[in-house]
Amino acid sequence: MIRWSLMGEYFSLILLGIIFIRYYCCEGRTVFSLKKKVFLFCLLSAAASIVLNIITVVTISNPGSIPLWLGMLLNSAYFIVVGGSCSLFALFMFLLTLEHVYDRHCIRMASKVLLSLYIVYLLAVAANLFNGCLFYYDAAEQYQRGPFNRIVFLLPILQLCFLGWCYIRNRSSVGNSMVYVMWTMPPVVLLLSLFQVFYPDFLLNGMISAFVSLILFLSFQTHTGDRDSLTGIRNRNSFMTELSLRVRGRQRIQILVVSLLSFADVNLQHGHNFGDAVLYECARYFDQLFPLGHAFRTGNVTFAIMLPWTDDETAHQHLQQLQSRFRAPWILGDRSCPLSCCIADLCYDGHEATAMEVLEQLEYTLARAKEERGVVRFDDTISSQMRRRQEIIDIMRQSIRDRRFHVWYQPIYCCHDDVFCSAEALLRLDDYEGNPISPNVFIPLAEKNGMIGELTWIVLEEICKFLSSGQAPGLKTVSLNLSMQQLLDPGLAGRIQRYLTEYQLSPDCLKVEITERFLLHDAQYAKRQLASLAATGIQIYMDDFGTGYSNLSSVLDYPFSFIKLDRSLVLHVPEDHRAELMLRTLLTLFHSLGKRVVVEGVESETLANYLKHCGADMIQGFYYAAPMPKQELIAFLSRQSQQQNA
Ligand code: C2E
Ligand code: MG
Ligand code: MG
Repeated sequence: MIRWSLMGEYFSLILLGIIFIRYYCCEGRTVFSLKKKVFLFCLLSAAASIVLNIITVVTISNPGSIPLWLGMLLNSAYFIVVGGSCSLFALFMFLLTLEHVYDRHCIRMASKVLLSLYIVYLLAVAANLFNGCLFYYDAAEQYQRGPFNRIVFLLPILQLCFLGWCYIRNRSSVGNSMVYVMWTMPPVVLLLSLFQVFYPDFLLNGMISAFVSLILFLSFQTHTGDRDSLTGIRNRNSFMTELSLRVRGRQRIQILVVSLLSFADVNLQHGHNFGDAVLYECARYFDQLFPLGHAFRTGNVTFAIMLPWTDDETAHQHLQQLQSRFRAPWILGDRSCPLSCCIADLCYDGHEATAMEVLEQLEYTLARAKEERGVVRFDDTISSQMRRRQEIIDIMRQSIRDRRFHVWYQPIYCCHDDVFCSAEALLRLDDYEGNPISPNVFIPLAEKNGMIGELTWIVLEEICKFLSSGQAPGLKTVSLNLSMQQLLDPGLAGRIQRYLTEYQLSPDCLKVEITERFLLHDAQYAKRQLASLAATGIQIYMDDFGTGYSNLSSVLDYPFSFIKLDRSLVLHVPEDHRAELMLRTLLTLFHSLGKRVVVEGVESETLANYLKHCGADMIQGFYYAAPMPKQELIAFLSRQSQQQNA
């Protein structure tokens, strides 16, 4: 009488049930990919094989309980389902192993091999009906194992060997979760199989599939952490993993990064729920746009699509396909929502590079696309611009270390006193060849790379040294340009004052210039900061008034003593009547508000005379003098005072 222990099978069934429920609850809401579907079938087939095993063992243990033909049928079904389940598990593991490999040839070959092995196995099951090679019923109607009964173990061993070969071949592109599976699963399967060989009466077939499911499920759990909770597509972490695996495997890829523009307006207009729904729609669209492409949500309103790169023409078509979607509005329910976006397009051709390098290129391309509010493809021009940008950042770092920056001064003419009473301090930097780098280039880079603070203190210290030396005749004040980062520093006023005290200077000899666009960023905070600066006695200029961010209310809201009119406002004065009218109106307006007006960028005598005539308080521009080094400024001011005295 056969007495096989079914404890392991019952335990496995419970374990599979827990995994199934947990898996379905976690993943049920998201879109089921092929990989997930295969895993679901794996779980179901494993459960089916265990149930069949239990039924067959019960019937075998109670001979005569069912007709012989039914016993044959049930046992054959068990063999078929077990083999199918093994093949499904193997297919799932192949999908995981080759997840980050675009070469479909590999997965096609794997599928063919798995199918062939299963067909051979099925033939053996069919042959068993005639020769009893797997199992048979003896004359006493007792179940007996056939000579090839252990074929059930041979099938997964062959599949494992093939999987191992495939893993080794593609190991540079195999994800961490599969590496974890490959390190844990074979020893577990081997141990359980050995146990089964030595203790054949304690059935462990179900246990093996339950443990394999558990290992796969745990590896899947790391995947669920890689999902974006709102859209269900992969998140930034997953993008980074995918990118590093693809680049490590030298696979040719195209990456399209889409950043939605002015999305805050969508939230404002339709509410956040609708905004979320739009993001969900976009994510789903991007994920399904290209057959071999995957979408990732890499930022709040930024998505990346990664797909195989074959040639430039196809890559261009992909880009156009993506762009064309944004020509039509997105329809959600009865609402239509037009969206605009900027796109960064990068093709990686499998050359020697690190994922970090590719990522930097991508980020630079996206930053450019955002600036241009359009499409930017990473090419040789962008690459050399990026190198130049890095070079400038390196030069700045070195220059801060070696104090290689220069501070130049541009004299400012005082119309009422007919003297140069002030100057603006402007930072100068040369590259390795000694060519000047424009502040318009390096200042924004210093702001973005956290160096602007140090630069400002370099300039302020220079100004303090210069003013306290008393070398410049008639120079009463010098102005310092401040950046937004400084305005965000709560210790700003205190630090400026410490410099002034150290050099025994009174606060009224320093003026600070603030560009208007910074004020719009965090108006309340900026207001408090400027108020505490003004309270120290330092006078404040609103710089670049008229550069596109002009908001007259900020003139009232902030404690400005001076308004600096940008060059663009006086470019066509006095020839253009309307420009002239605007200038006059602004002068009258600011004067009536108690502000003094400085006009910058004055290049001609005609304009300078005209401004004096209109009542401008101060004039700055190449007509009088360009920015110059300290020694030249001293000579310039000495010449001016001599001319006055003569
Ligand atoms: P800004 O503060 O508006 O400085 C005036 C800019 O106009 C200077 O350019 C100056 O050389 C230029 N300029 C003066 N007169 C004329 C003129 O008649 N015609 C023309 N076409 N341009 C004239 P620069 O030195 O290249 O500086 C550019 C910008 O870089 C500055 O604009 C300022 O925003 C920033 N910057 C310069 N030095 C510093 C600094 O130390 N700290 C900060 N935060 N920003 C600085
Ligand atoms: Mg300025
Ligand atoms: Mg300016």
